[in-house]
Amino acid sequence: MLLELEDVSFTYMEGTPLAQTALRDINVSIQEGEFVGLIGPTGSGKSTLIQHFNGLLIPTRGKVFVEDKEVGVEIKPAETRQKMGLVFQFPENQLFEESVFGDVAFGPRNLGCSEEEIEVRVKKSLEFVGLDYDSFKNRSPFSLSGGEMRRVAIAGVLAMEPKMLILDEPTSGLDSQGREEILSRLEHLHHTESLTIVLVSHDMDEVAHLADRLIVLNEGRILFDDEPRRIFSQAQKLREIGLGVPHVTSLFMSLIDRGMKVPSSLFEVEQAADVIVDMFEEMVR
Ligand code: ADP
Ligand code: MG
Repeated sequence: MLLELEDVSFTYMEGTPLAQTALRDINVSIQEGEFVGLIGPTGSGKSTLIQHFNGLLIPTRGKVFVEDKEVGVEIKPAETRQKMGLVFQFPENQLFEESVFGDVAFGPRNLGCSEEEIEVRVKKSLEFVGLDYDSFKNRSPFSLSGGEMRRVAIAGVLAMEPKMLILDEPTSGLDSQGREEILSRLEHLHHTESLTIVLVSHDMDEVAHLADRLIVLNEGRILFDDEPRRIFSQAQKLREIGLGVPHVTSLFMSLIDRGMKVPSSLFEVEQAADVIVDMFEEMVR
């Protein structure tokens, strides 16, 4: 197993009056090649959880295993951080080099890669995020658009050649074009490189489309861990914790309320289009 969490609980500032328990009894494992969406309301523990995936936080109780080795015991947190690449929220705030090349090269340079190897990795990583190496390598990160800056930051993590790419709300604050560019790149990376991806989001439509599996967090606990279509059939429970269902699902649910015979767990726009076309064909027949 690539990643396994066993009965993990985490409390910030434990033993002080400000103690705040952010995770409770989390059991989860992620296999190589999965695309997992992690979703939950603000404060549900998403960011805390993914920092356990890469050794940045060590559980207050419970264990974390990376490739079957216990983090902090059999594998050092620093090594875990290289294997499990984490892209923080608003990662562009951490760009600081004079050139795009310098920023993407930072990680592999720290790993002790040769200059030749660094160049190969920077080129490959920039291309993965859809930025042309020759036109971007010498530019200042600060001359780029918000979406481009964010893609440079993602390339910096990819250049470490992680086994898993974990992204904390990578589209937040971007316009729809910037979002689409990042999401389509993630989809491409997953398909061409079979890269394992964990995408943190609070947007159901976003994760519904991309992920094969969804983990829903609420108040530090896992509420659901299942295929998207099975989770969206629990619309009421999702609403109770302030999460909706994808737009397409909610459209189909109101059609069902009006007596139409359509599937209730549909969430892909393309599938919905097919169903609607069939409905019309049936009506004119
Ligand atoms: P999410 O990413 O889902 O919004 P977080 O993991 O950031 O949730 O937060 C989970 C809980 O932990 C919240 O109650 C939050 O207030 C608390 N928390 C997060 N970071 C810290 C911190 N550095 N110190 C103390 N409490 C924190
Ligand atoms: Mg967060």
